[in-house]
Amino acid sequence: MTSSTSPAARRDELAARLETVRRRISVAAPAGTDPTLIVVTKYFPAADVELLAGLGVQDVGENKDQEASAKSAETAQLGLSWHFIGQLQSNKAKSVVRYAAAVHSVDRLSLVSALDKAMTVEQQRRADADLPPRAVLDCFLQVDLRNPNPSGPGAVPAAGEPGGGPGRGGAMPADLPALADAVAARPGLRLAGVMAVAPLQEDPGAAFARLQALSDRLRAEYPEASGISAGMSRDLEAALAHGATHLRIGSDILGPRPAVR
Ligand SMILES: *Cc1c(COP(=O)(O)O)cnc(C)c1O
Repeated sequence: MTSSTSPAARRDELAARLETVRRRISVAAPAGTDPTLIVVTKYFPAADVELLAGLGVQDVGENKDQEASAKSAETAQLGLSWHFIGQLQSNKAKSVVRYAAAVHSVDRLSLVSALDKAMTVEQQRRADADLPPRAVLDCFLQVDLRNPNPSGPGAVPAAGEPGGGPGRGGAMPADLPALADAVAARPGLRLAGVMAVAPLQEDPGAAFARLQALSDRLRAEYPEASGISAGMSRDLEAALAHGATHLRIGSDILGPRPAVR
């Protein structure tokens, strides 16, 4: 968005892009399903969040606590659901539970403890301020879909190769059961399902098929953990073909972001 764009022009632009994405979703979603569209507003101003709310958006996503905290406070009167989708440091948990309905990036046991402790503190803060208690925090377990088997599909490339080096966050699939047990045992947290970002060096459909298989296994143990948070601007169709219930769409609605900072 350039600073010369008027609010009315920006509204029209967002409306058109949102409509295109909604149409893509309705074409790709299996019959009888109604996936949740989370509009990822990172890097874009609170004014855009307001315009989106006016266009019927209910769910918004952010990946940095500082930015999300400020934007959610500025738009508190809109009653939106905020989804935290970025890598989360444990020391930010207390801040995140003040505004977030859901965290999609739960990837380690220490973060589960931090979020649970933060929920206790937050409920006490609300009680002290005569505010109603908040709802339980929805937790999606983020999975690293890269394959550690060097000859398997989506293998993790060696450091120095394209796509090598640090991954896109998430627990290894083998660690999911312990993580699920930990979330399920905490009264302030609700096990909502699984989340992943498709690896860059692989067909997203193949990666999302593995995520769906992990979801099936999780639901065998925890039937209520039925969420699959998957699908971004470039791969939402592939995600919907593999059971995505929550889509996280940024650039195809807001426009291109400035280069990664
Ligand atoms: C930024 C982001 C998205 C949205 O990506 P787009 O390609 O802009 O649609 C989705 N998920 C996560 C975790 C993100 O950080």
